[in-house]
Amino acid sequence: MKLFDSHCHLDDRIYDKDFKDVLSRAKNAGVSGIMIVGVDKKSSERAVTLAESKPGLYASVGFHPHDAKECSKEALQFLIKLAKSPKVKAWGEIGLGKIRKDGLSASLRPQTNSIFRLFSMKGRVTEVFWRF
Ligand SMILES: [Zn+2]
Repeated sequence: MKLFDSHCHLDDRIYDKDFKDVLSRAKNAGVSGIMIVGVDKKSSERAVTLAESKPGLYASVGFHPHDAKECSKEALQFLIKLAKSPKVKAWGEIGLGKIRKDGLSASLRPQTNSIFRLFSMKGRVTEVFWRF
């Protein structure tokens, strides 16, 4: 059986020291592919760079719903440019987070809806963040 890790954050700098070891352990456990999920411009760019560096690594680009306020038109264009890489197979993080006590997520729904509409037009899988 082949396994595919559809959602991980290997772009996090915490993996700088043992990135190759993590990939080795995943391979030894039977993981044949890994999707590195971007959560903002910086991490999406890093996810694509990492995906392009090794076979079996793929990337998705997007904004975590709690950071949707940073998702400007310019930022969306940046993600669309990143998505031209053949290693980008999905949009995400994207979605609606749990409504926090401060009400932040609820106020970000209009931006998230705009992202959904835009990304759905670009012919990629959308990996939806959904927390209840
Ligand atoms: Zn995630």
